[in-house]
Amino acid sequence: MSRRTGVALLGATGSIGETAQRVVARHPERFHFVALTANGNRDGLAAAAARWRPTYVGLVQDGGATLPAGWGRGTPCLVEAAQHPDVDVVVNAVVGAAGLEATLAALRAGKRVALANKESLVVGGVLVARAVREGTGEVIPVDSEHSALLQCAAGRVAPVPRGADPAEGLLPLRGVSRMIITASGGPFRTWSREQIDGANLTDALNHPTWAMGRKITIDSASLANKALEVIEAHVLFGIPYDRIEVVVHPQSIVHSMLEFEDGSVLAQMGVPSMELPVLYALGYPDRIPDGGVPRFDPVASSPLTFEAVRHDAFPTLGLGIAAGRQGGAAPAVFNAANEVAVARVLDGSLPFARIPVAIEHALSALGDHSGDDLPALLAADAAARSLVQEFR
Ligand code: NAD
Ligand code: MG
Repeated sequence: MSRRTGVALLGATGSIGETAQRVVARHPERFHFVALTANGNRDGLAAAAARWRPTYVGLVQDGGATLPAGWGRGTPCLVEAAQHPDVDVVVNAVVGAAGLEATLAALRAGKRVALANKESLVVGGVLVARAVREGTGEVIPVDSEHSALLQCAAGRVAPVPRGADPAEGLLPLRGVSRMIITASGGPFRTWSREQIDGANLTDALNHPTWAMGRKITIDSASLANKALEVIEAHVLFGIPYDRIEVVVHPQSIVHSMLEFEDGSVLAQMGVPSMELPVLYALGYPDRIPDGGVPRFDPVASSPLTFEAVRHDAFPTLGLGIAAGRQGGAAPAVFNAANEVAVARVLDGSLPFARIPVAIEHALSALGDHSGDDLPALLAADAAARSLVQEFR
């Protein structure tokens, strides 16, 4: 029997973390958990640890409590798990910029990163690209749209040349002329701008097609998530921004589309479930047989429809794409401002409709976002966080 793939699961107690546990549970002959981490959910982590008996367990925020013998604690545990010698694949399912350091650490240790944590690529795209180019690690996307794009590329992925320009991408695709990223449109797809101005937290958390963690659910309602995904696609695949489009597709069946130079368009389809993207990132480039992935019924899913984005009602999307185009630390400012704005919407101290206003405030106040080394990015991130924390 060939050796099983060792998996580190960062963010084991979250929505993607639970999906990854369900997927791995169906393939015990191929995968086993070597390391598990969580932020503050001690009981959830203990339950997962009892189930999988990993070599390494780490809790980031232990609240000063006594932990079971051998558990790691504090922020270093993300890097310890990511670089564990028995780990082959790091599933990064942490939410927010907090996932960046572990992505970089895993790549430096030569691991595959099955990346759900899109914020890693938004905040530190150039750093991640450099880590891929300088070592033997690789990034395979878990985000459903990017998984779809990679699947549509059907092997037309160029090898990453050592030391090449980071702008060429982590998975450079050959012969591609355009990417069309689908968006469900979220709960406010048909709401007027005035109605969105009055939206409350319950409305914003009421996602029509996907069940996810709270932060990405709010991001899906504001379309900040789609802005993060456009930047993610640019960084991953090295495609210029003017060849990445967003289209609203309310059924969330077509996960994205790839147009080739001869005009042919391929789409990847399936019911809205993260099981397939997680499985695909674990097994890439192979397809692992799995009867547990929910099956698609074209008649039951009909009709499939597409609409233009209403940019006037969803200004966050344009703000994020503009930050991506600007480059430097601007995407990190966009991301940090959004993270704090969302946290404030979740704790009730900021109305949902103020998210784009808060982000714009941070982007304009922080002026020149030119630096893209780690200290510059962390400084931009911290400055944006404190601006939005104080924002009224
Ligand atoms: P979630 O909130 O359900 O889970 C987040 C996990 O990360 C938890 O285990 C939590 O303990 C841990 N965590 C949170 N903050 C942390 C910190 N500061 N340091 C260390 N660990 C921390 O989130 P989720 O919905 O599973 O999303 C995780 C990531 O995957 C996000 O980047 C999200 O954008 C991306 N993603 C999620 C989905 C989805 O369907 N949920 C789809 C695509 C992409
Ligand atoms: Mg997505």
